[in-house]
Amino acid sequence: MSDLQNTDQPQLPGVVVTGASGRMGQMLIRLILDSADLRLVGALDRPGHDWIGQDIGTAMGAAPVGVTVSDDAVGAIAQAQAVIDFTSPDATVAFAELTAQARAVHVIGTTGLEQRHLDALAAAARHAPIIRAGNMSLGVNLLVGLTRKVAAALGTEWDIEVVESHHRHKVDAPSGTALMLGQAAAEGRGATLDDLRVPAREGITGARAPGSIGFAAIRGGDVVGEHDVIFAAEGERIVLRHLATDRAIFARGALRAAVWGQDKGPGEYDMMDVLGLQG
Ligand code: NAP
Repeated sequence: MSDLQNTDQPQLPGVVVTGASGRMGQMLIRLILDSADLRLVGALDRPGHDWIGQDIGTAMGAAPVGVTVSDDAVGAIAQAQAVIDFTSPDATVAFAELTAQARAVHVIGTTGLEQRHLDALAAAARHAPIIRAGNMSLGVNLLVGLTRKVAAALGTEWDIEVVESHHRHKVDAPSGTALMLGQAAAEGRGATLDDLRVPAREGITGARAPGSIGFAAIRGGDVVGEHDVIFAAEGERIVLRHLATDRAIFARGALRAAVWGQDKGPGEYDMMDVLGLQG
């Protein structure tokens, strides 16, 4: 592995990465250390994790980079201009309170958030910018826009199904991306996903309800993330597909969001805002 090195330019926005030992955490740290726009000022992990107290470079099997992995979220976030967070819903809410106090940008990739988590994030966003997306890749955010347009163009004689595949370690279903795509399809039809959503089917389900949006999830191996939005009518089908082969695409999107958010006021934003794809 090539050695990692932190920048010595103190004027660059300082970033804290939460869940530093996680799959996304390690990818984020590698890209921040390689970035000309951001510097790494903190790496957080759960209390009791073996990496606590070690240099993050050493913990990742490279040379030291001068940042020690810590479980002191208050101390680390107080000195950050941005926090990049791909952890779990409860952890993300706790980090949001600290990030709001520090008036830092909170970039959230964590999925599986429930309404109570979203309510807590909305409260935190009154004090600082929160940029959150179930998928931070350019390709998927373009696919969201296309899905909305196609759904708006086609009538309810076209059934919409969202099928996703992920690695065996993923804990939530449907994926955050599948929900983004389903939401876009519902918006295209002038409705909300809650009204149209049909979760995974099993048993005698009865015939498909016209206009509903179905979800199916496949879990296995090391699949980074695959999403199909299927529009099926009598005699023809349209399939919009995104295949992710490298989780660096999500990390690159998160870094871009951390830079973009530096001059933004408090509020909730998503990757469509960051990528200028809104509207
Ligand atoms: P992972 O490898 O399991 O990493 C999660 C990290 O968060 C681990 O280091 C974990 O520590 C830490 N963590 C969890 N709960 C915590 C808590 N309460 N306090 C402190 N640290 C905590 O998972 P991953 O594949 O990196 O994915 C993380 C999240 O990002 C998931 O929600 C996933 O769906 C999402 N994701 C989003 C995108 C996107 O583009 N938005 C892309 C990929 C993944 P322990 O190991 O000690 O539990």
